[in-house]
Amino acid sequence: MIRKVRATGYNSQVSLRDDVAHIVIGGVSDDPEVLKAYSRDTSIFERMPELVAFPKDADDVAALVKYVRKAKEMGRHISLTGRAAGTDMSGGPLTDSIVVSFTKHMNRVLEVGYDTCVAEPGVYYRDLEKATLKQTGRLIPPYPASRELCALGGMLANNCAGELTLLYGKMNRYVLELDVVLSDGSRATFHPLSKEELKTKKKEQTLEGDIYRRTHKLIEENEEEIENARPSVSKNSAGYALWDVLDKENETFDLTQLIVGSQGTLALITRARVALEKLEENRSMLVVFLSDLAVLPEVVRRVRAFYPESFESYDNHTFKLAVRFAGDFLRQLGLRDAVRLGFAFLPEAWMAITGGIPKLVLLAEFASATDMTARDKAREARLAIADLPIASRLAFGMMEEKYWKIRRESFALLRKHIHGLHAAPFIEDIVVNPDDYPRFLPELNTLLSQYDIMYTIAGHIGNGNFHIIPLMDMKRPEHRRIILELAPKVYELVARYNGSITGEHNDGIMRTPYLHYMFSPRTLELFAEVKNIFDPLNIFNPGKKVGGTVEDIERYMIHT
Ligand SMILES: Cc1cc2nc3c(=O)[nH]c(=O)nc-3n(C[C@H](O)[C@H](O)[C@H](O)COP(=O)(O)OP(=O)(O)OC[C@H]3O[C@@H](n4cnc5c(N)ncnc54)[C@H](O)[C@@H]3O)c2cc1C
Repeated sequence: MIRKVRATGYNSQVSLRDDVAHIVIGGVSDDPEVLKAYSRDTSIFERMPELVAFPKDADDVAALVKYVRKAKEMGRHISLTGRAAGTDMSGGPLTDSIVVSFTKHMNRVLEVGYDTCVAEPGVYYRDLEKATLKQTGRLIPPYPASRELCALGGMLANNCAGELTLLYGKMNRYVLELDVVLSDGSRATFHPLSKEELKTKKKEQTLEGDIYRRTHKLIEENEEEIENARPSVSKNSAGYALWDVLDKENETFDLTQLIVGSQGTLALITRARVALEKLEENRSMLVVFLSDLAVLPEVVRRVRAFYPESFESYDNHTFKLAVRFAGDFLRQLGLRDAVRLGFAFLPEAWMAITGGIPKLVLLAEFASATDMTARDKAREARLAIADLPIASRLAFGMMEEKYWKIRRESFALLRKHIHGLHAAPFIEDIVVNPDDYPRFLPELNTLLSQYDIMYTIAGHIGNGNFHIIPLMDMKRPEHRRIILELAPKVYELVARYNGSITGEHNDGIMRTPYLHYMFSPRTLELFAEVKNIFDPLNIFNPGKKVGGTVEDIERYMIHT
């Protein structure tokens, strides 16, 4: 067998493809069909890359970074954007330069221990979960709703969250150690450091040592500013999480907390050690039907007191779509389950026919060691809201599954079925404190009603995280204008309520230009300093997190 030998240098005389093909043993492609596939994620943007590289291992990634650094120093417009499964909703993995695609080769589960696993960034979550469940009965709780599609690298880089985040937190809580390639092509392993370990690291005359020295200094000198910038809502993926690096209680300094959620703008992740959790075996669901949103905050407050494992919601538009396209859900199942689930949809079909559709459906799921205690919790929560003007029911088995199907498939329902219109994520991930619902929701409603658009709302109601997905005709300039006009208005409103403009989907092309609504000018300067410490030549995913503009949004928005 002939082993490919990796070249090293930048050669300005040959094409990018030929040059990089000698560097990345795992292969490259500039095939127009491949480039087209990599020009999209699930956002409203499109950017055609020049080349896609498929690294075989961390050495390939390091060699590629060194090559790009050299090329940049010679004045070439070139950069590297990591990509896992490409399900990002913000334009995070899109670039006009080189995509570093991890799912082809760097997709191995390397180790599954009792309550941790080690894997490469290109492993699909569905495969990782199969392995961890099989070997330990544990999983990574903050898996996103895109769990069947996404991969580990994107979950880390976006600091993802999901239906279990209410009880278990976001991805950053589960990251124990990250192997990364830094912007000079050197490799580093980040994990929490004790005071002594930090002191030793800071002495190293390497880029890693420099990163520790300067980041530590920046955090110490700006302690108050950073603490004030800490979002007060329970979920956030906006900005760089400087507030999570220094853990005063445990006296640790942990750069994994900066890399997680940084959308590949500080380093490329090549391996991760992640904690696993064992979930309770039994669940029971309380379903609440709301016709008047005024009562929502009180329902959320009372139900949360019973510590549901998840507390989700979907609106009347999602409800109607689900009934209309119930056949689609059923086709995914075998005949027996399809018949059972089909019967489970009959009450919804009846509600749709008689016009008794609730404005919002809330799903609170309670988990416990036994079926009986799970049901008891759901019953107690139901009793606690019995005096409010709502309808409610307990759901088990197929009924429970039906509600989950509607909630989990809400975005896919829009994407697949509304022809000519685009399910457009641009205000799809806002978070406010649930206590602010009574004042915030009417203001949001007034804003949305200024525009003649149809939208669905689903989301993590217990966390105050709303997924508002408008349906837009991206061919029409007036619709593209609405996006540019409405997005900053919604972000400004959210910021006024001390919320987050993105709880889990991150900044990307869509939100980077609007980070000033959430963060002070000084905090934005600190973000720029962090980027400069890690990546002074702007090699990694330029224009995301730092330096993105509204013109980028206009330029890369799809027109079809
Ligand atoms: C139907 C649907 C539902 C969704 N639901 C949720 C949800 O509930 N919660 C949630 O958080 N998100 C959700 N998302 C958004 C998205 O799926 C998640 O954020 C997911 O974790 C992204 O993973 P990915 O593998 O697709 O990453 P990609 O889209 O490939 O990349 C995401 C970001 O990570 C960076 N990146 C990728 N690999 C690396 C690496 N090795 N090193 C450094 N940077 C890297 C990319 O540059 C990009 O900026 C949803 C999306 C869809 C389509």
